[in-house]
Amino acid sequence: MKRISIYLILAVAALWTTGCSSEHTNQEPTGPRDAGREYVIVVHGGAGAMGDMAENPERSAAYYAALDSALTIGDQVLSAGGNGPEAVRAVIRYFEGNPLFNAGIGATVTAEGTFELDASIMEGEDLSAGAVTGVKHVKHPIEAAYAVKERSPHVMLSGAGAEAFAQEQGLEMVDNNLYFATPRTMKWVEEFKAKSKKNGTVGCVVLDRDGNLTAGTSTGGMLGKRWGRIGDSPVIGAGTYADNQSCAVSCTGHGEYFIRHAVAYNLCARYKYLGETVDEAANHIIHTELNPDAGDGGLIAVDHLGNFTMPYNSGGMFRGYLYKEKESGLVKKGYGITEKMVTPEDLK
Ligand code: ASP
Repeated sequence: MKRISIYLILAVAALWTTGCSSEHTNQEPTGPRDAGREYVIVVHGGAGAMGDMAENPERSAAYYAALDSALTIGDQVLSAGGNGPEAVRAVIRYFEGNPLFNAGIGATVTAEGTFELDASIMEGEDLSAGAVTGVKHVKHPIEAAYAVKERSPHVMLSGAGAEAFAQEQGLEMVDNNLYFATPRTMKWVEEFKAKSKKNGTVGCVVLDRDGNLTAGTSTGGMLGKRWGRIGDSPVIGAGTYADNQSCAVSCTGHGEYFIRHAVAYNLCARYKYLGETVDEAANHIIHTELNPDAGDGGLIAVDHLGNFTMPYNSGGMFRGYLYKEKESGLVKKGYGITEKMVTPEDLK
């Protein structure tokens, strides 16, 4: 009895001191802080080994130019008063039309030499989400994902059903699945047995002027995929997630691992429930949870306060950011492929 009351006194004293110290010290609150940004756009164009990219200035210049165009497109939408979903869709439509990336034209091939595309989009304001998987004739899968979100009672549609829905919605379709082929992808058809993976998905996360978060991802999946395989990209919570109370996230990498670790939602949960910053949460998942499982890849994420992060555990990740500072009105931009980040001025 005596023992219990001593413990009780000690516990009350401890609580009292904690209360006092937070009240009477000038300690800054810990956790994420407002980054003072009017809007933020972060993009990725896939993670992977990157081979000789660092020593191949011509090839990296092409990727830097593409990342720059994607960011400029997003900036144009947001600076003209457009919202997050409009910016994310415009950026991803651009990537889907650029053969350098594993989405839309330039997508990676299945074991049968066909193109099966996946995409998803989510808004943090109301947690509304849409996704399509295994579509073969939708020119811009991100638009089909958005249509599912906006104009269907569902979150995810697959294959022929998703295509019928896209057609009904008046989206642009292509007659021939080979529309998505490029000389490079056709070479992979022959080579895919030798190489087991090909990463190059695209993604975009935005914090818009109204403080709303949006995330979108689009991909051709993994090289040589079979049996209608679906990766993380169209799976809400794995490859894509957005919640105005935490972050917007888009992932790229070996999808099976990203699904197992529910990476995109996992990040938001760590942020929300553990009070980690977006950078801490992302790095923990990418380097501590995925690495030992050989789940290579990376992610981009922005929180509701304008802080962003772009970690990866592979050789590199095509990535870029753009934000407008509230106070100065200045727009800042940067991109990276391997470790080094560069600015448009560095490339002049
Ligand atoms: N995550 C994608 C998938 O597994 C592939 C990638 O990001 O390259 O389908």
